[in-house]
Amino acid sequence: MNRVLILLLGFLSFSASAENCSFKSHHELAQEIYDEIGQSALKCVPNSVHLTFDDGPSQTVTPEILKELKLRKIQASFFVTTTNLDPSHAKYQENRALVQQAMNEGHMIADHGFEHNAYDLRLDASGKLLEKGFSQKEREDQIQKSVDYLNWSTGGKFSKQIPLMFRFPYGRGAMPSEKELKHMMDEGEIHLSGKTYAEQLKEYRQISPPLQTIAGHGFSHLGWNHDSHDSSFGIKSPEKTILKDYIIKNIKALCSNPKITKVALFHDIKEMNITAIPIIADIGQCLGLKFVNAQTMMADQQLNKTGVMVSKQDIIQGQIENVIKGLAEVESSPKVECSKPVVDKSCWSEQYQKSYPHCSGGDSVCFEGKWYARTDPVVKDNCQLKD
Ligand SMILES: [Zn+2]
Repeated sequence: MNRVLILLLGFLSFSASAENCSFKSHHELAQEIYDEIGQSALKCVPNSVHLTFDDGPSQTVTPEILKELKLRKIQASFFVTTTNLDPSHAKYQENRALVQQAMNEGHMIADHGFEHNAYDLRLDASGKLLEKGFSQKEREDQIQKSVDYLNWSTGGKFSKQIPLMFRFPYGRGAMPSEKELKHMMDEGEIHLSGKTYAEQLKEYRQISPPLQTIAGHGFSHLGWNHDSHDSSFGIKSPEKTILKDYIIKNIKALCSNPKITKVALFHDIKEMNITAIPIIADIGQCLGLKFVNAQTMMADQQLNKTGVMVSKQDIIQGQIENVIKGLAEVESSPKVECSKPVVDKSCWSEQYQKSYPHCSGGDSVCFEGKWYARTDPVVKDNCQLKD
């Protein structure tokens, strides 16, 4: 059999398997988690999901996340902490290149501020002051610096994105807790007439200095309605059982509560996501989740109505209605059957910008998702290649 025929046969078998549930992740946990979820008879509602990554870029995690997203044609949003782009950062040039790469690959580049600080005050659960938050001038300076660095990294394309999105570190600025609102009122920083927290929060958002500042710089605000809780872990990936539990919990949560696009919060500084994101994407897609880009996400009006997304116009006009309306819970969800997965053994070629089937290639041969030299025993023993 000549090589062309082998390539053709390989391509046909790849195309046929693509109709079934297909794993692109080769991690041992992928099948294990899939089997476990299958046994749990998970009821997954086919939600739309938009993946968002905060605090990066990181030289260890972001390139891997970009690679996995590209392989699956998923476009996400990256909320950049722009201290990573400052010349005082050891890897600022590499970090800028990553921001540029993410934008070129169709992801939305968004702003997470310069220093990872609260844009209003920040209290812990007991009411102790953790961070005072920025003054008006500091807020302005921080945002201007952020915008400048993002434009510098993208050749001015950052500010041309429509709409421009900002996310406050810790979600602070748009969603103060009851204790934080009370503290601001006690300190005389803000005056609210509402009696209940819900009333006060609604009022606060209409005049919130952090929200007004970002809107003045052309930003809308995007929060999240799915927290991966990866911030509870360190930078290094945890042991296998913990990682597995993290992945399963995320898949189950993304599968629940439909009727609104899931805006999922992850961090591209956490190494666990190098393994978790491909598995969540593969199994999620198998269960019916649709990973949508920023534009598709923004078309979901529910995100505005529930305050997950607050548009620049609404901030400026103080017309933020229903922002604290609870999300509709769905009591019963139809079960989504998942066919037996077929492991995708193809390999992506950076050089040729296309996917090669198992046991095909040239000087390098694709074997079970990895490239080997044509002369490698793994290839010689397992692939029937003719020279
Ligand atoms: Zn953050």
